[in-house]
Amino acid sequence: MHSSPSIVPSDPGAGAARTDGVPDVDEPAAVAFAQDLVRLRTVNATGATAVEQPAADLVSRLFTAFGWPHEVTEVAPGRPNVVAVVEGGGGPGPTLMFEGHTDVVTEGDPAAWSVDPYGGQIHDGRLWGRGAADMKSGVAAMIYAVRALQQAGPFPGRIVVGVLCDEEGLMLGAKAFAASPTAAGVDGVIVCEPEGYEVCTSARGGIRLRFALHGVMAHGAMPQEGRNPLVAGARVVAALAGAEEWAVRRYGTHPHAGTVTVTPTVLHGGDPDQLNVIPAHAVVGVDVRTVPGTDHAELIGHLRQAAEDAAAGVGVTVGLTVVDDRPAIETDAGHPVVTALVAGHRLVHGSAPPFGAVPGTTDGTILTRDAGLATVVYGPGGKWIAHQKDEYVEVREIGEYARVYAAAARHFLAGSGTRPEGAAA
Ligand SMILES: [Zn+2]
Repeated sequence: MHSSPSIVPSDPGAGAARTDGVPDVDEPAAVAFAQDLVRLRTVNATGATAVEQPAADLVSRLFTAFGWPHEVTEVAPGRPNVVAVVEGGGGPGPTLMFEGHTDVVTEGDPAAWSVDPYGGQIHDGRLWGRGAADMKSGVAAMIYAVRALQQAGPFPGRIVVGVLCDEEGLMLGAKAFAASPTAAGVDGVIVCEPEGYEVCTSARGGIRLRFALHGVMAHGAMPQEGRNPLVAGARVVAALAGAEEWAVRRYGTHPHAGTVTVTPTVLHGGDPDQLNVIPAHAVVGVDVRTVPGTDHAELIGHLRQAAEDAAAGVGVTVGLTVVDDRPAIETDAGHPVVTALVAGHRLVHGSAPPFGAVPGTTDGTILTRDAGLATVVYGPGGKWIAHQKDEYVEVREIGEYARVYAAAARHFLAGSGTRPEGAAA
């Protein structure tokens, strides 16, 4: 089986799923492993320590059971990356990477949930809990996909299985992996984040800005003696709406990623108990999301100028801090990692997948930015359920995605980089 590349159905309207060319995945084991991961409370909260350790231990034990050589690298104390390199034993070939993260965001108020967020329960055909979609099911699916491919026989090249830490934080795991020698040999990455069956070849960029507004403190009865940073803040917020319109015109509408958004998220100043005092300082925080083709330096410069002009009208000066700056990502739809994924999806589902964009950033953003790797995002679970209460994944999706991953890997490693017929542009 290993010597013949996957056969892509030529009739886009076939509609029937195919099993030939798709390695046989141990779906019950994959589902059970996803449950085990969900039962570990690996919440990435400020000041939390050893966040991913229990999940990393679980993954490492599984890799050992599979006989996979792997490295456990502590990126921060108790926060390991677990990276396996699975050689195909079928001669030279490319290197494909599957990527996932083991940290989750907080469950928030557990009373708001109708299930135990860390129970790992299955009912109504769904696996419930924090991380069920984002993205412990994706981690389980990718691991069991690689296991299935390996058990089907030798394959050319190799597969890197990267289970990284801190995606929900500063992406320390992806940054550390991108700087590692293993990353240098990777030819394509499938990031297994939940995207609701979309093949996401693009991801929006993100910029977080903090505008510090410096005025002059004064008595509330004598405002002429002060320079009010709160009035400046209101003007800055209003000016940002105009700046967003400028950015939409300037950078246009991307077919999948939409338009640039400029969203004020913080407007803070003054003492709630000192209503007769004009404060000296205020802060405006802004969350900017960008689309492929956005010139971040130009956009930041435009936003800075808009804020300075608005605040200058009331004599207030502005200091800008760029808290974070992550580029928008676009991988060519003709890249072998994309065409392989499309071929895998067609084999399992009988039709071409839709293309889409990741609304936020993922570890893939860092792997592309820091290591120049071609990344595509595709994984089990709905795009919008992540980070919400009553998070779930449809249980059948774990097996479906594992089969697509295995078929895509076989296609990619066979070196068949041709564009499958019927792939959506
Ligand atoms: Zn995620």
